[in-house]
Amino acid sequence: MKKITFILSILLFLTMGCQKQKNEFSIEGIIEKNENDMIGIHYPLTGIKKLDQQIETYIFDTKNSFHKQIPKEISLHDSELNIDYEYWTIGNRYHNIVLTTFMTTFHLAHPIHDIKTFVYDELEKKFLNLTDIANINKSNIKKELIHLYKDSIIINQLESTLEQENLKFTFKENNITLYFNPYEITAGSSGIIKYQIPYENFKIEIKNTETAKNTFQYHPINKKLSITKPTIALTFDDGPSKYTKEIVNLLKEYNANATFFILGNKVENYQETLEFVLKNGNELGNHSYNHKQLTRLSTKDLKNQIELTNKIVKQTLNYDIQLLRPTYGSITPQLRKKINMDIVLWNVDTKDWKLKNGQKIAKKALTDIEDGKTVLMHDIYKTTVDALKIILPELKKQGYQVVTVSELKEIEKLRNESKNN
Ligand code: ZN
Repeated sequence: MKKITFILSILLFLTMGCQKQKNEFSIEGIIEKNENDMIGIHYPLTGIKKLDQQIETYIFDTKNSFHKQIPKEISLHDSELNIDYEYWTIGNRYHNIVLTTFMTTFHLAHPIHDIKTFVYDELEKKFLNLTDIANINKSNIKKELIHLYKDSIIINQLESTLEQENLKFTFKENNITLYFNPYEITAGSSGIIKYQIPYENFKIEIKNTETAKNTFQYHPINKKLSITKPTIALTFDDGPSKYTKEIVNLLKEYNANATFFILGNKVENYQETLEFVLKNGNELGNHSYNHKQLTRLSTKDLKNQIELTNKIVKQTLNYDIQLLRPTYGSITPQLRKKINMDIVLWNVDTKDWKLKNGQKIAKKALTDIEDGKTVLMHDIYKTTVDALKIILPELKKQGYQVVTVSELKEIEKLRNESKNN
């Protein structure tokens, strides 16, 4: 079931490629590794209050219902909540948002998949129903769905669902997509259904959105590395975000660089930010597509999480990713065998995602940092930026060289060579 959903979402993603967002809106990330569960949530905030409120309500309701289902008394790392998003606007006016939830807990025999859609008209300041967008022939849709899912369709459920006013849907310039949850119109084995209706009788006027041309060319920067100075590699996971640029500027100020382990689902919306990261001598690594726990995935889903991210980065930034940091730091010997990339973990954990206090994070980091260490931070919290304002000047004072993961490897190699000569 998961497989089908993922393949479908990739197809949808690929067909979406030509409709790039022009403005960088903010994508919120909630990444937590708690005692009994793992949470990876991403959702857009559009800056439109009415829409953002609805999005946040859905996210927090889902998170609450997940927490209610986790047995407190049993310590199992097996519960996982993942929410991913798709967001595009049509004609600079119609905002389309899809939130896809995957939830598995100790109590659930099968994971829950759930789709939520929002279509919002920014000009009229209202949420739209399918009937606001187009004249739809529901009996044709019914016929075709019965044909497509003849082995699993439940006809009376299909009929009552199609009668509902709030059918889940989104639209593009030339088609409308209807969404159905597992068990909504079929037996669960069909997973989430995404059914595309070709262009027919749009009631609204759609002006073609311009596509942004990619003119960025990545050029590696040659830097002088010292093998005698104490050196650390600084790494940031879970971004990019609205804080990433500020972090790059801080690094620049202290002549430092870092490796950013990024999520594929954020790349297109933070293209300019990522160009800025690269232009300033930093490095990008892969941290999966949407932060699912990799050890749980089938070989095919795993491949998708990793390769889709590499592919989007190559297409968007013309950059080849070499390094992978597994989500939640979860790695098994079996997983290692399946991944054909350099896996990078860490040996200083600043716990910035948990401490969320600049002073405390800085204290933890500066206590644990030693020559040759790799430091884990996350560029999605303001408090991490605060901490860097303390950490970077202090490291400079102590004579440290702050570099990327690949540079640290290079330095280690040079140090070994000079020892052997
Ligand atoms: Zn992470």
